[in-house]
Amino acid sequence: MMHRTHWINGKPWTGEAATRGDIYNPATGQVSGTVDYAAKAEVDAAVAAAAAALPGWRETSLVRRAAVMFAFRELVVAHRDELAARITAEHGKVLSDAAGEVARGLEVVDFACGIPHLVKGGFSENVSTGVDAYSIRQPLGVVAGITPFNFPAMVPMWMFPIALACGNTFVLKPSEKDPSASLLLAELLAEAGLPDGAFNVVHGAKEAVDALLAHPDVRAVSFVGSTPIARYIYETGTAHGKRVQALGGAKNHMVVLPDADLDLAADAAVNAGFGSAGERCMAISALVAVEPIADELVSKIRERMARLVVGPGDSEASEMGPLVTAQHRDKVEGYLDAGVAEGATLAVDGRHHPIGGGEEAAGGFWLGPTLLDNVTPQMRCYTDEIFGPVLSVVRASSYADALGVVNANPYGNGTAIFTNDGGAARRFTHEVEVGMVGVNVPIPVPMAFYSFGGWKSSLFGDTHVYGMDGVHFYTRAKAVTSRWLDPSHGGVNLGFPVNQ
Ligand code: NAD
Repeated sequence: MMHRTHWINGKPWTGEAATRGDIYNPATGQVSGTVDYAAKAEVDAAVAAAAAALPGWRETSLVRRAAVMFAFRELVVAHRDELAARITAEHGKVLSDAAGEVARGLEVVDFACGIPHLVKGGFSENVSTGVDAYSIRQPLGVVAGITPFNFPAMVPMWMFPIALACGNTFVLKPSEKDPSASLLLAELLAEAGLPDGAFNVVHGAKEAVDALLAHPDVRAVSFVGSTPIARYIYETGTAHGKRVQALGGAKNHMVVLPDADLDLAADAAVNAGFGSAGERCMAISALVAVEPIADELVSKIRERMARLVVGPGDSEASEMGPLVTAQHRDKVEGYLDAGVAEGATLAVDGRHHPIGGGEEAAGGFWLGPTLLDNVTPQMRCYTDEIFGPVLSVVRASSYADALGVVNANPYGNGTAIFTNDGGAARRFTHEVEVGMVGVNVPIPVPMAFYSFGGWKSSLFGDTHVYGMDGVHFYTRAKAVTSRWLDPSHGGVNLGFPVNQ
C-alpha cells in the first residue's frame, strides 16, 4: 500500500501524522494508498523552511534562477510518462489527457524560463534636472498555492514556476484526492538545483489550508477550486492581510449559431463536454443551440456519444475514465433524474453506457456520457456546476437570446461560439461577459504568455494566473527616484519637490 507524506525542506517529512486520508483508484474503487494530513505544526514547519530559504533564493541571480527552471523543464519532459501515470492512477483521467495536462503545465515553465526579461522595469532619464526615475519588481516572500483535484500537475504548474522564478519561496497544498503528482514535481525541482526549503508540499484539507491562511509569514495565496471555497479563501486571506487570487467554479456555454458547421460543432461539444469526464473547469456544460438547428445538432452529438469508449484511464482504448470519487459520481448522477423531474429530456442516459475494464472495474466510480435536452436556465441541472460528463442543451431563439443566457449566468470562466460569420463572432467576443472566449475553439485555455482567469463568480481578486498577471501577482513594484548630486545642486529648500 502506497503512503504519501509532506515534502519539507527538500525531503520527505519523517513525523507521525495525527490524521491520514485514503487515496483511491477511481477505475476500480479500491484504496491504493494513504496520505498524511498536515496540522498547524506541519504547516508551520513548511513555512519556516520556506522562510529560511528565502534570503538565499531571492538573492540568487536572475540568470541562475532561470537556469534552474530550464533544468526543471528538461526533467519534467523526461518524467512526463511517470507524472501522467500518477495522475491517471489517482484522478482517473485517461493517460493521453494526463500527458496533455503535463504539456500545458510545461508551457508555464517555458514562460518562467524567460524571467530575466519578464521582470525588467522601466527607466526614465532626467525626469527633473539631473534626476532619474526607474521601477523594479521584487519578490513578495513566502507564497502559498492551494489547488484542486482535477489538474494535480497543471494547476500547481500555473503557479510555482513563476513564483519561484520571481524569487519567492513556495508552499503548495495540493488536493488530498490525488497528492502524488505534486511530490514528483518537488523531487524534480530539487534535482534541478532548487535549494532545500524553496519549494514545500503539505497535504491535507481544511485544517492545513486554514493554517496557511492565518500564517503571518505567508504573503500571498493563489487558489484554484470551487466557488464557495474560493470566496472563503479570498475573504479569509485578505482579512489576514495577504494578497489573494482565488479562481472558482464555472458553467461554460458553447453557443452554436445556425450557420455553423454542425459536424465540427458536434465534435467540439463531445470533446469539450466529456473529455476528462467533464471534470475540467473549462469543460462545456451548456450547449446553447440557436434555432432552427437544435434537433440536427442533438442528433449528431448523440451519434458521437454512442461511440465513446469509457473505461480505465490506463487502457489505451479508453477515451473517458471514471469520476474522481464515489460521492462525486453519485452527486453528478443525481442531476439526471432531477433534470427530468424539472422538465428536461434525458436524450442520452449515461447510466446505461458500456464500461470497459472487465471485472476489476466493477467497483469503479463510473458514469457514462449523458445528454440532457430542453434544459432551461431555471433548472438546477443548469444553475449548479455539475462537474461531470453531463451536457445540457439549452435551445435559444436568436443570437440575442443566446447571449442573454450566457451573460445572465453568475459564472464567467470560459465560453465558445461556433459560427462561420466573422462579424457575429466578433460581436460575441465584444459583448460576452466571460473571461476566456473561444471562436470555433471549445476549450480556450490561454497560452502561458496570456493569463488564465474568469469573471464574476469564477474569480475573486484582481489578477489572473500565469502570464504577465502571474509575474505581477508574485512581485511588488518599487519606484525609485535618484539624483547623484553635483556640487551646483547644494542648498536648503523646504518646498515640495517639483520638476524643473
Ligand atoms: P475544492 O474547492 O473542493 O478544493 C480545492 C482545494 O481547496 C483543495 O486543495 C481542497 O483540499 C481545499 N478545500 C476544500 N474544502 C475546503 C474548505 N472547506 N476549507 C479550506 N480548504 C478547502 O475543489 P475540487 O473539488 O478539488 O476541484 C473542482 C473545482 O475546482 C470545480 O469547482 C472546478 O470548476 C474548480 N476549478 C476551477 C478552475 C479555474 O481555473 N477557475 C480550475 C480547475 C478547477
